[in-house]
Parts: sequence; structure tokens; C-alpha cells
Amino acid sequence: MLERMHKHVARAEVRRRWFSSEPLGFGRGEVPDQVVLEPSCCRTIPNVWLDGLTGITGRGLGRRPWRRAARSDPGGAARASSCRAHPGRRPVSQGYSGAWKLEREVQPMGFRGAIFDVDGVLVDSPHERAWRQALRELMEGEWCDLRPRTTYTPGRFTREVYQAVVAGKPRLDGARAALEYFGVPDAAERAHAYGERKQQILERLIDAGEFHAFPDALGFALAVRQAGCLLAAASSSKNARQFLARIRLDVFARERGLPYGFVRDGLSLEDLFDADLSGRDVPRGKPDPMIFLLSARELGLEPRECFVVEDAASGVQAAKAGGMAALGVARLHDQALLEEAGADLVVTSLDQVAVNALAQGRLRRASVR
Ligand SMILES: [Mg+2]
Repeated sequence: MLERMHKHVARAEVRRRWFSSEPLGFGRGEVPDQVVLEPSCCRTIPNVWLDGLTGITGRGLGRRPWRRAARSDPGGAARASSCRAHPGRRPVSQGYSGAWKLEREVQPMGFRGAIFDVDGVLVDSPHERAWRQALRELMEGEWCDLRPRTTYTPGRFTREVYQAVVAGKPRLDGARAALEYFGVPDAAERAHAYGERKQQILERLIDAGEFHAFPDALGFALAVRQAGCLLAAASSSKNARQFLARIRLDVFARERGLPYGFVRDGLSLEDLFDADLSGRDVPRGKPDPMIFLLSARELGLEPRECFVVEDAASGVQAAKAGGMAALGVARLHDQALLEEAGADLVVTSLDQVAVNALAQGRLRRASVR
């Protein structure tokens, strides 16, 4: 077996076992000098780590062999910083020195990171409803004198307008864009009041539980994790974290009969992410790529190693501007808009994506079974 398990074969096999629940099964002297665990923050496990670890079982999130290593290398423990979803894992970007120096190997280019937008991709959130309701309240109340000087009517604030003008932008930018779209005078000055009204309505809707997760997105995120990618959430919304924390993946996996070993009791969608930049104050919002570039950096990956899952044209543009692949999910029959923005693949459900092609760095549609 060992002859077979050299270099790429060894990596692939270890990677498969790592994310399944199978024993690693290596003993002293049985593995090549360096075994690379691509999906984990702790990429390289030198032989010395594996000494005496024969029979250790892969439990995904729960398994932290570097802690064992740290017992005989207190310096290593100190150098290991914490990754939020995987305490104890060392982000590659922080570097490492000493006997077990991590080496960044040149891999055949496959995706190693998946960056998810939240609203409209993972969660059917009430943002759109809140934006629409807030503008109606203002136009029927404080701003009623302005209304004849604008193009606004409630019926004109369609889903298509929301997707093209507001979706994916930080609150203030989205508010200003919507007001400019309807020709509201002094849009920049009025954007703050509109954004605040929208936020109040949104919080009421969240408290009332007026949102749900998209099942195809939960299934896809779990499958991508199982395939070995690191995951990041990157939303402009400051409320995204509230949604993520309230969605239970253990319940979802149980209901769907998904046998992923890393799904432990109580696992929330928030727990699944290795990096969460939701609501982070980023100087420039989408379509600027900054939030995605920061996500890649927090995952310890190069932009070209990541793909972004987005439902808004501005998000797709941001991904492409950052040098990443873009997977558009057109939940509102807006395939053309996402394609025009430069998406590498547009699907109407994430069930349509070929997860097994991600390891080759390809975004493609799964063949119909
Ligand atoms: Mg979105």
C-alpha cells in the first residue's frame, strides 16, 4: 500500500480519510516524509506527528492532532493560533518555524476555499421586504411632499430592481442607490434615514423569525466541506451572523440522512465557517473585491484558490475583480444578469453544481442523474 501512497496519491487518500470517519491507519515509518492535508489550516503533518498516532480516527472538526504534537513542542503550541471554527488550527498565513516548518506546496490548481454570500445564497432573509417597506413608509409619511418629484410607486420597486440596484451593497450604499434610482432629490443626504428605517423593520422581521435557510445551499455547503474546502461567510449585512447562528445543521443533516462525520450535535451554520466576515466594517463594499480578498486571507489562501457563491451581480463583479471564480445562484430568474456580471457558472439551485469537479478547480454543472 505504501508504494501506492506517495505524493499526490498519499495526499488524496489522507484527505479523503480526514474528512470521513475512517482511521488514518498510519504507523511509525509508514508514511512519506511529508503528508499534506490540503483542507485543514494545518496543512502539513510531518512523520514525527504521526508516530504513535496509529488508529486515530478522523472526526473532522473534532480532531486536532497538532495538540498532541504540541505536548512535545511547547513552542509549537505557542505558535499555533486559534481559528474560530477550528480552535487550535494554525492559519497558514501566520507562518511557522522550527522542526515542522510548514511548506506551501504548489498544488495542481483545485479550489481550496469557498466564500459564501449570506443573504439570498444561504438564507432567504427579509432584507428585500424591509427595503421596500421602509421606502413605502417614508414616501407615505415624512417624504410625501417629495413623492411627486420622483419616479417611485410601490409597484415599481420590483424584485428585479432590488437585485440590480440594492442587493449585495452595504446599507448606506444600498439606500443611496435605491433613492437615486427613483430620482429622490438629495439622495445622499436622505440615505441615512432610509437605511435606519430599513434596519428597524429588518430587526422586527428577524425577531419574528421571518427567514429561512435555502436547503440546496445547506446541502452544498456541507458537501463542499466534505470535499475538503475551507469555508468563509462574506456578507455586507451586519445581521448575517444572527441568521447563521440560528440555523441548525445537525438537524438538517439528520433530516436529510447526510452521513458527514464532522456534523456534531448542535452544529450551527455559523460553526461551519472557518472565517466569518459578515458585517465586518470594510471600507469599500461590493462590487469592490475587498471583503472577498479579506476572506481569502483569513482562510490562508490565495484568491485564485477560492470560488465565491453569490446571488447579486455586484457580488459576482467583486469576485471577478478579486481574481476569484464566481458561482452565481439565480434564485430570482436573473441568470442573464449574473452571466453579464461575469459569473463562471450560473445555476438556479446549488444542487446543480458538480462538487467533485471543485478539486480540479472547475465550476461546472453536475450531469443529470
Ligand atoms: Mg446576496
